[in-house]
Amino acid sequence: MINSLTDLAGDRPALVARLAAAFPGSVQGHALETAARLPIRGGRQAALAQLATIDPVAYATTRNHVGGAVTKLSPWIRHGVLALAEVRDAALARARVPEDATKLVSELGWRDYWRQVYAALGNAIRRDIEPPAMRRRGGQPLDHMPDDVLTATTGHACIDAFVRTLHDTGWLHNHERMWLASWLVHTRGVRWQTGADWFLEHLLDADPASNHLSWQWVAGTFSAKPYLFNRENLETFTAGAHCPTCPVRGRCDVEGTYDDLTARIFAPAGGSPDRPPLRISPAAPWRPGRDMARPRRPLVWLTLDTLATTSPAALAWPEQPRVFVVDPDWLAGERPTLKRLVFISECLAEVPGVEIHLGDPAAVLLARATALGCDGIAVADTPCPRVRRHADTLGGSLPVVVEPWPRFCRPEGVRDLGRFSRYWSKVGASALVPTAQQR
Ligand SMILES: Cc1cc2nc3c(=O)[nH]c(=O)nc-3n(C[C@H](O)[C@H](O)[C@H](O)COP(=O)(O)OP(=O)(O)OC[C@H]3O[C@@H](n4cnc5c(N)ncnc54)[C@H](O)[C@@H]3O)c2cc1C
Repeated sequence: MINSLTDLAGDRPALVARLAAAFPGSVQGHALETAARLPIRGGRQAALAQLATIDPVAYATTRNHVGGAVTKLSPWIRHGVLALAEVRDAALARARVPEDATKLVSELGWRDYWRQVYAALGNAIRRDIEPPAMRRRGGQPLDHMPDDVLTATTGHACIDAFVRTLHDTGWLHNHERMWLASWLVHTRGVRWQTGADWFLEHLLDADPASNHLSWQWVAGTFSAKPYLFNRENLETFTAGAHCPTCPVRGRCDVEGTYDDLTARIFAPAGGSPDRPPLRISPAAPWRPGRDMARPRRPLVWLTLDTLATTSPAALAWPEQPRVFVVDPDWLAGERPTLKRLVFISECLAEVPGVEIHLGDPAAVLLARATALGCDGIAVADTPCPRVRRHADTLGGSLPVVVEPWPRFCRPEGVRDLGRFSRYWSKVGASALVPTAQQR
């Protein structure tokens, strides 16, 4: 058990040192200093303080601007410290009429949508979902991140600033993520998976669904066309923060009209115009293991999707013991940096009595359930294939109960997840209904 991590949560430098010793693979570059200075704190208290600042009306008009009134809630939402329904309710409570919250709720809808696609496709989201909408000129894509990018020395002031912000804070504005991903994939020829994996290492809100599927959207392998930007677009939405002093101003990679950029980057007639409209059927509700009686004293399993006492499983079973397992497969696959481990530890520190273990989740949970006299496992619903696989294994020996999230929208009539617009046209109105009136 590695519970001493949460005992140190009030002392950032000590926590950072302890985590670095326990997880040496998470220490890259200036990881110790950046983790100690992290501007965001994990935990429900910090999440509620940030939630109290949201302004859905200002959000609607300024969200595309880097200095705009975005919520910055993503690290807590990603880890289930805040539920989408709860954020929707807060947005509605601050709106004069529900329509004032439409834009913010539809952005929450993107997260909901990506998670539905992840539940339907599982790890297949890591491969091209569709053939690329346009073929890039040049040879094979790069399957490593170029050194000048990693060291923020590309000479493009904007790109170098985005890289430094990502490395130092673990958070980027949505537009910065789009610009950085677009430049890497289309201009530098980096394989989108390579960029997506790099983001997962550094983002505090690192989430394979929102991340990999957004990279595919930028790359044009899960969208009608690849996402491009030019200098004018960047200057508009950054209030000219980077270009005036940029060493390559006037001759940079994104100088020109969209037609110029398209002709420069993509082969003529290089698209896949005959791509059939994509259809993705939603996944059936997740029910792990065999049919067994509902447990009466389950062990509550907190996963990366649910790092709070408000997790659906912890709320349903408030008196039962809670366990979080650090999965070595996750550490090896996602390579989270120290920043994220600090954030996760601070979240868990606010869960009274939680046990933290390192090891194979199914084996650890079975052993702890037996030792603690539990007759099953309770876990919050998740699209994560790793969690689902371990729950299926556990379901061979113990009842596993999946607790649902508070309802965000009504997806029951959805038959096709091929595009967000189609999904949202079916569920958008239901997402504007507050939780108290959802049935
Ligand atoms: C290349 C790329 C990679 C991304 N990787 C991630 C990731 O790993 N994790 C992640 O949570 N988001 C990811 N996003 C989506 C989005 O950029 C962030 O959710 C958002 O910028 C977080 O800032 P915010 O909380 O201020 O968002 P706001 O604009 O205030 O939105 C509120 C919440 O809605 C959700 N949301 C908003 N926009 C999106 C979107 N486009 N896709 C999914 N959810 C959205 C988030 O939960 C967010 O916290 C990625 C986007 C791109 C283009």
